[in-house]
Amino acid sequence: MRFYSTNSPQTSVTAKEALFHSMPSDKGLYMPTPLPRLGADFFEAIAGRSLADIGFAISQALFGTEISNADLEELTHHAFPFDTPVVELEPGKMGVLELFHGPSLAFKDVGARYMAALMSYYSKQSDKEVNILVATSGDTGGAVAMGFHNVPGVRVSILYPSGRVSELQEKQLTTLGGNVQAFEVDGSFDDCQAIVKQAFIDLELNSQLSLSSANSINIFRLIPQGFYYVRAYGQVRQQEKPVVFSTPSGNFGNLSAGAMVQQMGLPIAHFVAATNLNQVVPVYLETGIYSPKSSIATISNAMDVGSPSNFVRLANLYGNDYDRFKANVSGYFYNDDETRAGMRQIYDQYSYVTCPHTAIGIMGLQAYMNETKSDFVGVALATAHPSKFKPLVEDVLNKPVDVPERLAILADRTKQSIHIPALYESFKESLLQTVS
Ligand SMILES: *Cc1c(COP(=O)(O)O)cnc(C)c1O
Repeated sequence: MRFYSTNSPQTSVTAKEALFHSMPSDKGLYMPTPLPRLGADFFEAIAGRSLADIGFAISQALFGTEISNADLEELTHHAFPFDTPVVELEPGKMGVLELFHGPSLAFKDVGARYMAALMSYYSKQSDKEVNILVATSGDTGGAVAMGFHNVPGVRVSILYPSGRVSELQEKQLTTLGGNVQAFEVDGSFDDCQAIVKQAFIDLELNSQLSLSSANSINIFRLIPQGFYYVRAYGQVRQQEKPVVFSTPSGNFGNLSAGAMVQQMGLPIAHFVAATNLNQVVPVYLETGIYSPKSSIATISNAMDVGSPSNFVRLANLYGNDYDRFKANVSGYFYNDDETRAGMRQIYDQYSYVTCPHTAIGIMGLQAYMNETKSDFVGVALATAHPSKFKPLVEDVLNKPVDVPERLAILADRTKQSIHIPALYESFKESLLQTVS
């Protein structure tokens, strides 16, 4: 398997290159080539198995002989010690695919853990330490920190905006120690991201350290997200109805991953793209005009993206053809009041507690069901556990929310961070001190 850039499809790089250098130098996005056509039989055969087994089978199809079967099996089973179950809300008609059973309680664990396992595999072949830099506004940092914790040959530096992530999210970043170092920046998420970008173009720093990124444009965070669409298909296929997935979206990595396995042959009848007021993709589907905007702050903050970086990938998967895109994806969007009302309605109707992102996905699915008369089984992706947004969820539902043990124990741990001003030179200086 090789990877071409969406900006120059005629040239391609190896998997290792795409993994360690997230972004091609022409600023396009990497896409796998050729994308194997696996066919319905392949998916029928693996769909009833565990997430790890499904990941192994698809990885084999992708990597061929590039990585041995034994190594691929080990790395997929190491990456996925948890399941992604479908919980029925309306028997035979609608369910939620719970993607929050991993260590950081959000779907981003799936991508981060697979990427970490692959980096660990390739790092064994070289003795140069890899330094991962990542800026986070919340969920990404936790998944990356936990995914890469104790991975040999890899050091992780996480930059987060001081005072702007939730207390439990901060604990996920700052209490692991070992090879994970948190930098608490006096500034915004954009400042953190600007510092990371500057590090990647600092020739002097790059001559001393081998830098890599774990941001969501890395194709190896996206590929494994396709595995749970297959796992979900395995849980609903006995209904013998077409399957529709609804994906609450921000940067559109999750939906691109679904479109990629659909392209590989998984029988997905349709997608619902559900967003908050950062509605550029639903507007594109309605009008055919794509106009990225600056992001608007909402209560579903992990989806506050005005210029989704994976739109290019999604369009590419549908042949850059608006009619084909529209035939496969329907868009819906909700403001904060509608989201709160949706969280209440879902709780009243199904006794199911959701985070605001998941509520938007379920609402999109309900809207699509009401609009189309066809018979199908709908699966909405539950992207985070409601306890990650505990104060909001408790306020909206007016009831206490349980915090799972693995998140609750973090509350008593001591935060360890390096507090820096939002200045590139300060970051560089402390980074070089921590790695020396
Ligand atoms: C990251 C995130 C999303 C958005 O996913 P994309 O792949 O960026 O579209 C949705 N919900 C939660 C909880 C997230 O953390």
